[in-house]
Amino acid sequence: MVDQVNSNFAYHKTTTIVDTSAQSQPVWFSREDISDADKPLLSILLQESFNRWANESAALASAFENGEFVLFNQDAEEVAAAGQYADDRGNRNAALERAASRVLSSGENDVCSEEDLFVAAVPLHRRNDGAVFGVFTYITSRGSQWDVSQLIGCSLHFRSCFYHNFEQIFVKDLLQQQQRAEKEEKKRNELFQAAKRLYDQIDVSSVLSELLSSLEMLYPSSEVHLYLSQDHLNGDPRVKPLVFKNAEHDLVAKAFLNGKSVSEQERDGTLRLAVPMTGKQAAYGVLCMSIGPGQWDEADLPAFLLLADTSGSAFENAKLYEQSNLLINELRLINELTKRLNQSLRLKEIFQFATSELLTIFDADFCCVLQLNKDKNQFVVMSSNFPALASEHFSPDYGFCGMVYRTKEPLIISDYWHTRVVTSKLMDNTGSRSLIAAPILADNEVVGVILVTHKAPNFFSYENYKLLQVMSTHIGLAVTNASLHAEVRRMVITDNLTGLHARHYLNEQIQNRQRKDPFGSLILVDIDLFKRVNDTFGHQVGDRILIQVSDIIRNSIRQGDIAARWGGEELAVYLPGIRAEQAFRIAERIRQQVEKETDPVVTVSCGVSEWTFEDDKISVETLFYRADMALYEAKHNGRNCIFVGQNGI
Ligand code: GH3
Ligand code: MG
Ligand code: MG
Repeated sequence: MVDQVNSNFAYHKTTTIVDTSAQSQPVWFSREDISDADKPLLSILLQESFNRWANESAALASAFENGEFVLFNQDAEEVAAAGQYADDRGNRNAALERAASRVLSSGENDVCSEEDLFVAAVPLHRRNDGAVFGVFTYITSRGSQWDVSQLIGCSLHFRSCFYHNFEQIFVKDLLQQQQRAEKEEKKRNELFQAAKRLYDQIDVSSVLSELLSSLEMLYPSSEVHLYLSQDHLNGDPRVKPLVFKNAEHDLVAKAFLNGKSVSEQERDGTLRLAVPMTGKQAAYGVLCMSIGPGQWDEADLPAFLLLADTSGSAFENAKLYEQSNLLINELRLINELTKRLNQSLRLKEIFQFATSELLTIFDADFCCVLQLNKDKNQFVVMSSNFPALASEHFSPDYGFCGMVYRTKEPLIISDYWHTRVVTSKLMDNTGSRSLIAAPILADNEVVGVILVTHKAPNFFSYENYKLLQVMSTHIGLAVTNASLHAEVRRMVITDNLTGLHARHYLNEQIQNRQRKDPFGSLILVDIDLFKRVNDTFGHQVGDRILIQVSDIIRNSIRQGDIAARWGGEELAVYLPGIRAEQAFRIAERIRQQVEKETDPVVTVSCGVSEWTFEDDKISVETLFYRADMALYEAKHNGRNCIFVGQNGI
């Protein structure tokens, strides 16, 4: 049986509950109120406020001793209680819940006596819209002296505790929000600065260092690693090469392949986060962070992604810049090399120049340029900074030179000690481990090979290898030019029919030798009655005889002697450092051989002249004149004989 009595002490929901503290302190947040959205937090707030109220309500000691204050939330659920009501719990709960429900639906005070208990309940109104957010009740035994107005007072006190707490939370919340906003702003600012610094860097390793130090500054408590797909290892232990051992289970490889960030919680609670570092053209690596348990703030993710993105673009820019610089540098080197190569038309000089240039350009230890001698079918070392190899010759299938010759392709060896594909004297004797080599091509034929080495393994880059290839093309062009020039010169100084030198060359050479030597001799050789040979056997046979005599002369003299066709059927030999006496013997040998070996048989007459340093500047013309006079004498003395000029024996 419920005995519901309306409270004599009217306390209606229409009653304006004045929060005096709020009025006396017109702070802006005193107008803030709880809303339906706060419902999940309300029970805790109610509980805390109730405890606070209970602590502050020491004056109500007797009320607490004789009964129990119980607080309900707006769902009529008991939230907190204080005091003593020792009666049967079942009755207590039922009576209180009923009272609370009544108050919640009516919004008015409720006082009721049930059997041996007395329950008073008053609504707790929100301060802005008056909606009921809880019920404040008191239960005691029937008959105990209880004044409901006291409960109203208590509820007002509780309500002020409640709003006090609420404001505190509200302000704390605001402060937290503000702190967070400040932190985010600071982070954004740091990020902006980091991004700016990243873009300021123009070389790849500076970008990497900047990125790593920025990450360290932004995430001081985490471990940061950068995995790069290309070998840009700048010595920083935090930069590692990206390897794909087990892409399925490897977070870093997964992030790189999918182009998306991937995270994983380890057993100990550490969070591993892998974010690809991509530019517009490609992915360059993966940024990986290990963050201790509880240290990761999800709100940091966008910033981290942004930084990875920025560093990807900055890395790409730096790479492009580096590449274009490399290209410009290469073009400059090629241009200089070509210019200087073209200044010389002498093969030996070109090879020597190429050797010294290549050593400088590639910062190499050794360089060796070989030329193919087609006649002897062997490669000859034309130039090298390793003296022991000078003028060495090798079979065309020996060593790296042989490989390049066979394949016509350039070659790069990163470590000769580990990949000993062939035996190489150059590598062995110099203790070299790295090699780049390229063919020198002329008309698509290998005419030479360039070998550039270094003692350290893995010394040459792919760019070096490509550059050597380009340079060898230019060296090839210079070699072709020089060869053509040499050929033209050979043609100019050689007589077509006999293969002997031309007269002007002989003149030049005599003049040259006269500057160096103490003496020298000239033999003029004239075929006897050659007109008759022509007349008898025809011009072609005459020509053949001329060639036969020339060959005899060529085979009768030493390397340094110069044989030339003086004109018509007159031939001349200059013998540097030879006196007339010896020249006579040589002429005699020629004379005898001609008589013996020509077919049809012809004979020759010779005139010999000599000059010595004691002569007063004897000219080439005088030397010839004397020889010619001697020849004239020989003709007049029956031909097939030798006469020596005036200053002779
Ligand atoms: P000599 O014993 O006095 O020297 O009598 P020679 O007939 O040899 O002298 P000469 O100077 O009268 O004639 C030289 C001849 O050599 C004239 C020319 O027909 C011939 N001759 C010159 N150059 C060539 C050549 O290139 N080929 C041929 N077949 N004959 C040549
Ligand atoms: Mg003659
Ligand atoms: Mg003649």
